[in-house]
Amino acid sequence: MYSHQNKNSPKIVVFGSCSVDFTTYAPRLPNPGETLHGTKFTTSYGGKGANQCVAAAKLGGNAYMICRVGDDQWGEKYRNHLKETGVDVSHVYITPNVTTGIAQISVADNGENQIVIVLGANGHLSKKDAADSHELIKSADVFIGQLETPFEATLEAFKINEGIKLLNAAPARSDIQEILPYCTILCLNEFEASMLTNLNVNLENAVDALNKLLSAGCQTVIITLGSKGAVYASKDEPPTHVFCEPVTAVDTTGAGDAFVGALATFLLSHKDLPMHQKIGAACEVASISVTKEGTQTSYPTNYTPFIKQY
Ligand code: ADP
Repeated sequence: MYSHQNKNSPKIVVFGSCSVDFTTYAPRLPNPGETLHGTKFTTSYGGKGANQCVAAAKLGGNAYMICRVGDDQWGEKYRNHLKETGVDVSHVYITPNVTTGIAQISVADNGENQIVIVLGANGHLSKKDAADSHELIKSADVFIGQLETPFEATLEAFKINEGIKLLNAAPARSDIQEILPYCTILCLNEFEASMLTNLNVNLENAVDALNKLLSAGCQTVIITLGSKGAVYASKDEPPTHVFCEPVTAVDTTGAGDAFVGALATFLLSHKDLPMHQKIGAACEVASISVTKEGTQTSYPTNYTPFIKQY
């Protein structure tokens, strides 16, 4: 158990996916139709929602997970795993006759990855689940959603929450304009930002994407840039580039999720820090995660932001 849940401390509530990752490691990614010999196989807990929730819990956040698992062997195992990690699992629902979501991940020696997802129970997370979890969603100090579960349910939940609403617009989609005015913070990577803005987003032209997404109604927009850190802008803060210390990347799977979970934690635990320092600290947590294989297992515990000028 990593966190010490205290019902009175501010709540981070994640509404979204949990899936089991079946990961193969190989010298390089296979081409279409090609069979490659891998060097290792692991089974681990993943899914963007649960990754973000676990990242927050491992950093000491008071984290709650609202999700659906199947009634197969993985559903119960996943629920127990979340509980052992310190996550509140009272809103982990079981869907009968459906498999728990899975992700098939390939990781190359250079850290690149390729992922196929089967939604399973994640596809059943519904507007009714949002309504049934009304009290918890409403009272969340930071409420996090992603796009691996049905969009209409996430939208419904964003309408209920009265705290900081953090949307991680992943995987990439172009048709989520309706939720943007509800986003206190929109967080996405370059590829997702390109898809959503119809611009070819990179560090040099990220300002155009930031402005477009602010105009669409988000209060703050953060675009993560892999090893280049992140850029962000708010309604009242100009675009700023937050750098990231160079590291040797071993496995970048789930780096964005580490970033989101860490940011949620620091938004509450380091309220008084300026935004660029919270983002810098979240970058640091995410860059620690890419130095290790695995997803949730690569997320650090007991990290305290080192206050410096990013
Ligand atoms: P995603 O995992 O969603 O594709 P990014 O690749 O933008 O998102 O990574 C998210 C964050 O993880 C970055 O902002 C950075 O802090 C960290 N990160 C990712 N890749 C690296 C890397 N190669 N070196 C250092 N940090 C990294």
